Amino acid sequence: RVDGEHEGDAEEGDLGVGGGVLGGLEHQAPPGPGRRERSLAAERQEEAASTHAGRGCERERERERERVGRRASEVLPAGEGDEELDGEMAEAVADPVARAGGGVEWEDVRKDLHMHPELGLEEERTSKLVVKKLQSFGMDQIRTGIGGTGVVGTLKGTQRSSEGDPAALREIGFRADMDCLPMQEANDFGHKSRTPGRFHGCGHDGHTTMVLAAAEHLAKRRDTFAGTVHFIFQPAEENFGGARLMIEDGLLVEHTRCDEIYGVHNWPYPEVPPGFFAVRSGPIMASADEFEIIIKGEGGHAAMPHLTVDPITIGAQLVSALQTVVSRGNDPLQPVVLSITRFNAGSAFNVIPNTAVLCGTVRAFREDDRSRVQAQLERMSQSVCMASNATATVNYYRGYPPTVNSKKQAEYARQAAELAFGVDNVLLDCDPSLAAEDFSYMLDQVGGAYAWVGADSPGKLHETNFDFDDSIIPVTVQYYVNLVNLRLAAKTASGASASAADEATV
Ligand SMILES: [Zn+2]
Ligand SMILES: [Zn+2]
Repeated sequence: RVDGEHEGDAEEGDLGVGGGVLGGLEHQAPPGPGRRERSLAAERQEEAASTHAGRGCERERERERERVGRRASEVLPAGEGDEELDGEMAEAVADPVARAGGGVEWEDVRKDLHMHPELGLEEERTSKLVVKKLQSFGMDQIRTGIGGTGVVGTLKGTQRSSEGDPAALREIGFRADMDCLPMQEANDFGHKSRTPGRFHGCGHDGHTTMVLAAAEHLAKRRDTFAGTVHFIFQPAEENFGGARLMIEDGLLVEHTRCDEIYGVHNWPYPEVPPGFFAVRSGPIMASADEFEIIIKGEGGHAAMPHLTVDPITIGAQLVSALQTVVSRGNDPLQPVVLSITRFNAGSAFNVIPNTAVLCGTVRAFREDDRSRVQAQLERMSQSVCMASNATATVNYYRGYPPTVNSKKQAEYARQAAELAFGVDNVLLDCDPSLAAEDFSYMLDQVGGAYAWVGADSPGKLHETNFDFDDSIIPVTVQYYVNLVNLRLAAKTASGASASAADEATV
């Protein structure tokens, strides 16, 4: 989810609440009338504006949880599939290991996923394809239905190690997201989306393919490592926070015991040129919160303002006052953004309305900054309104938290990437992005690293002409394989690490 790049309804702005593409997971619109329409309708009826919007969100969240909860997680015996695939898919799944280098087959898988995009929590076909592939590679265990459509393939290394070797006990996770965007693809190539209004415009088709390809390679080479690898395929990165749903379903305590976890995003932006890899210690993506402030005054005749409490004047004061929350209250060396993106009030030239509604977004890289801005925003809204005899209702919706890499794992990622991309092609000083990513929930629980792989794509992320750059598949798989060599290869009798260079043939 790279919300800053959202293309489409300009009114939705950076946060992009509408359309289900970009809304924070805490308050995603349900199918049917969008949150935006409901919100506008509410504004038209001023009295309705005092409704606590947060309740609607809670309800929505609960509904989603119920929906997810209804699917029981399931552990499948490895190598056994009970469900029949349709013809086209069976073709894509057939003969997954009969490939002698060249990467052609994985490109086909990627294109097949591109042709059949599925929205968050609807990744039925995609997760079935993932399961079939994992079964054909021979995982030790495959778990399905985690956090909705999530899948985890588990592979144990067979390399002998000396007793107590930490590498042998270690468990690491590679995470891919599987969902598409609710947007129309503009491309006209052979593998364009077969479903109107559904599009792999963020390259999650490629992310899924790369983790699958790593699983295939490592399953054939399990004698080269001693610990355990979990291949984690998550739903709903773009909207519902599938990473969080998987965690709530026991991903990191019941289904895996990951000590560290890694994820990548294809990055078709000039700061990471094609052939390059970028990782950094600390924050790499921001939190993305949304807020709504309902100012309740007292309307009346515009010619008799002394008989009213004018919410528009108060709202204007509040917009100005809120500019100081970041500029005066925040450490200038720590980036935070607070933007007011909507100001709705009034219906006639000669009527002072009862209420005014402000909306906006807060972005931050540190949890402390985020909490302080939230508290200050609430305090200032209350006090500015109180000074003029109005009241404020502040609804603050927390979206994805900041994505923060741990120092050690960022270092392992660097080492693994240097062996795959070349020492000169690994960037460590890249600026973080103010977009958001739900891998943050996993990094909240275990140490890990999220990284960007430079890509040469026709469009940027979330643009209608985007397509995943297949040329990054082999080198990214090599990165995953290198991480396994680095972290899970056992010590030999002499005490040296046995992580000999292992060429991934993808
Ligand atoms: Zn995206
Ligand atoms: Zn994405």
